[in-house]
Amino acid sequence: MTWPFRSTYGELHRPIAGRDVPGHDADGLRLRWLGTAGHVVETGTQTFLIDPYLSRPGLLDVAAKPLVPSLGKCLPWLPKKVDAIFCGHSHFDHILDAPMLAKHFGAQLFGSASTLAFARAEGVPEELLIEVPPAGLREKIGESEVAFVPSKHGKLLFGQVPIPGEVLAPPKIPGRFFHYKMGGAFGIWLSTPKGALYHNGSADLVDAEVEPFEADVVLLGLAGRYATPRYIERVLRALGPRLVVPTHHDFFFTPMERGVQLLPGVQMPAFVRDVNDIAPRANIVAPTYADNIVVPTGEAHEAFCESYWPS
Ligand SMILES: [Zn+2]
Repeated sequence: MTWPFRSTYGELHRPIAGRDVPGHDADGLRLRWLGTAGHVVETGTQTFLIDPYLSRPGLLDVAAKPLVPSLGKCLPWLPKKVDAIFCGHSHFDHILDAPMLAKHFGAQLFGSASTLAFARAEGVPEELLIEVPPAGLREKIGESEVAFVPSKHGKLLFGQVPIPGEVLAPPKIPGRFFHYKMGGAFGIWLSTPKGALYHNGSADLVDAEVEPFEADVVLLGLAGRYATPRYIERVLRALGPRLVVPTHHDFFFTPMERGVQLLPGVQMPAFVRDVNDIAPRANIVAPTYADNIVVPTGEAHEAFCESYWPS
């Protein structure tokens, strides 16, 4: 069986999945990358966003100006309905748009105390806010379940975690990039009736926290991964995914409409080589912003699992 979406960014920048590739299971778990570490997850009955960041001001604007989220830049890329939004940490490239989108969709917003401080500054109603304590959180959302798994942020700035610290009182907004302190970092495990995924939005982890979880799909944050010893191996061995989707590997200071441009130094061929070495039968899909990835369900799902992660 050949997984129809096999591709790497070596032969990449061509669409991998396209929309609804013939012969694949249209009823499966649907994933779409929003650029940066952002993703849409659709189960057919529920829709979730992870770290949605679509306003993407340019590098000079980020450096020099307050950051203003733009609903107009976000909505063309998003579904009509969103049930919940999950934020793994509070840097601007993970949460700038989340409070605005929670308000717009009436969606629950899950995040650390720092994330919620920005949400309160934006006026998100209290009943939508779910605080993730430093020890993490596991919670049912209808027929799905989410876990926030205590993690670490990649040391991507001269061996240091950029902009550490917390934001506990609602800040003045619009804020500058350095006001968006990290506020704790979490992996996000999401189990749905159509399959489970794990979002590692920053390139580090706490092995013992990840170990209890399994996931069909890993959304693997790549930026700054070389500061974390054996990063890819540790994540993949803990979670045993059949499908590995890179994330946080694009240059997120250009408009989405220009297509995927890679972050300097992200080394996609090395990523593909590393995954192939560690998990030779796991599949790698490096999507563009236009691709839907669909994880099959039912019998096709069983075959998919057996094919790609032999025990
Ligand atoms: Zn960050």
